[in-house]
Amino acid sequence: MDTFEIVPLPAFEDNYIWALQRGDAVAVVDPGDAAPVLDFLDRSGARLCAILVTHHHGDHAGGIADLIARQPVPVYGPGREDIAGVDHPVTDGDHVVLVELGVDFEVVEVPGHTRGHVAYYRRGVLFCGDTLFGAGCGRLFEGTPAQMQASLARLAALPQETKIYCAHEYTASNLRFAAAVEPDSVAVQRRIERTAALRAEGRPSLPTTLATELDTNPFLRWDAPAVIAAARDRLGRTPADAVEVFAAIREWKNRY
Ligand code: ZN
Ligand code: FE
Repeated sequence: MDTFEIVPLPAFEDNYIWALQRGDAVAVVDPGDAAPVLDFLDRSGARLCAILVTHHHGDHAGGIADLIARQPVPVYGPGREDIAGVDHPVTDGDHVVLVELGVDFEVVEVPGHTRGHVAYYRRGVLFCGDTLFGAGCGRLFEGTPAQMQASLARLAALPQETKIYCAHEYTASNLRFAAAVEPDSVAVQRRIERTAALRAEGRPSLPTTLATELDTNPFLRWDAPAVIAAARDRLGRTPADAVEVFAAIREWKNRY
């Protein structure tokens, strides 16, 4: 089982920096801002041992400089992106071994939101940055729909019980769109209620699980008849394949 605890550190409007803690050792994923991390370290009396970054956007990488200025630690990040402070560039299939936490992550390249976006996976746990969200997925800033759909298909093939730690609290608004795509989905309606209850208590909607996403996330449901039908309505013709289904739904969401 997990040797470490995973704690959400809210940042900016709706980001989560995920802190992994074992004893007095802490690693953080996507520190867009140093302040919440430094607060957490002060509060818990822990020390930083590593930084993992999924992609180059400022709300994920912006805190690196301040953190390593205070305490130099290894910084892992996508080898195909240029991020100041990353001294351990990683690509698909690489492993990130954090001895202090007793964990070995595998790097999965998931291009689409950005060109070199990576996710970090180990059995049961996935940190996916802005690739997959609760009931949604990242915008295609640098990649093509085909790239993003292939990236999401790789994540969708992980074990269904995998807990997914997304970098933004977007679940509630994404679910409103999911309900527009699949108005008859009981699973989506139940998740809307569940998410509203969590948020009303001030709790994160995350982590989610792959099983939940496969049931309710329109961006993983290119095989579902209702999603194919919604894509057909948008395109005015039958989508040729999963990529066209995905692309049509993503395009709709951009305007929703
Ligand atoms: Zn981003
Ligand atoms: Fe982001």
